[in-house]
Amino acid sequence: MTLQAAARTDVGRARERNEDAFFARGAVYAVADGLGGHKAGEIASRVALEPLAGLADRSPADAARGIAGAVRAGNRLVFERAAGDPSLRGMGTTLTAVAISNGTAHVAHVGDSRCYLVRGRSIVQVTDDHTVVARMVKEGKLTPEQADHHPQRSLLLRALGADHDVEVDQTEVALQAGDRLLLCSDGLTAVLSDEEIADFAAAADDLETICQRLIDEANDRGGPDNITVVLVSVAGGAPAAGRGAGLRRRPRRRRRFPRRAVAWSLLVLALGTGAFFGVRAVLGRSMFVGVHDGRVAIFRGLPSDSLRGLATLEEQTDLSIEDVAPFWRPRLEDGVRADDLADARAIVARIRDDSQRPTPTASPSPRPSPREGDG
Ligand code: MG
Repeated sequence: MTLQAAARTDVGRARERNEDAFFARGAVYAVADGLGGHKAGEIASRVALEPLAGLADRSPADAARGIAGAVRAGNRLVFERAAGDPSLRGMGTTLTAVAISNGTAHVAHVGDSRCYLVRGRSIVQVTDDHTVVARMVKEGKLTPEQADHHPQRSLLLRALGADHDVEVDQTEVALQAGDRLLLCSDGLTAVLSDEEIADFAAAADDLETICQRLIDEANDRGGPDNITVVLVSVAGGAPAAGRGAGLRRRPRRRRRFPRRAVAWSLLVLALGTGAFFGVRAVLGRSMFVGVHDGRVAIFRGLPSDSLRGLATLEEQTDLSIEDVAPFWRPRLEDGVRADDLADARAIVARIRDDSQRPTPTASPSPRPSPREGDG
């Protein structure tokens, strides 16, 4: 199977920096969309792609086997880099990576960059967006149309760099001659519908021209974000017409929806997911126990300082920080990591328990500690 590819990235019309990055070599292709202040976003997206270079030097079969591992390795690199440099704290990135081997595209994905399969004039989104709105669509709380226009549509639930480990979605797609795979950042999908993307991507022009046209079109529509496109053509040539019969195509209309619907969806969002912030949050499944309004509280997110502002309050307890055993207080200020909500509640129960015990000065502590005297 012969592969041809072209890739292009553009800063867009509204941003000062381009925090997107791409990779296209051998049988390996990827798009990353970095987030973080100053130069952090640019660094995150580039660092995340580093493990792919080694993969592209190997056989396509090896690359396919290693693609998800390379995404996880990229996550660790971004996480460690951020942990070792205060100016990079809180940086993260999306990463959508594909290795093509033996007629199959092996997709590994985290975030809201996308991989599409274009077959004939049909288009299918291969990856799921790891965003709050995509989850709400899945739960039936928003329609796809509402999600497309939602002001918080780029709030991420999952990204590289937020934690030691990351859950990577893996998908395999059986390819046919004439298929095209398109990887892109949300700077494209924010302004073009799937159908419009398919119309461009299926054109019988050279791949470089198509990539440039997609970017020009996104810029003509305001270019609100960085735009990155990687287009891979399988076995060369334009996709054969009428080959899309076997593809499911999600009907998506692009029309404005009434203001009341906007208000409604915002309300649902507020009720469904708690407090929101006007920035792109890196919120994984991780939780922590910390302090809110002087009381012990459970947060969704990470306890690191820079991310704390982005974490969402999950549960507020009635336990005042003043009543908490002194040795817990600094730990709570830093945030105590929990695996999930049940774990977080267990930690709160332990804090409560420890805080009700008599202090060592009042009576002997049931727990020996190195600070205790001999009596
Ligand atoms: Mg973006």
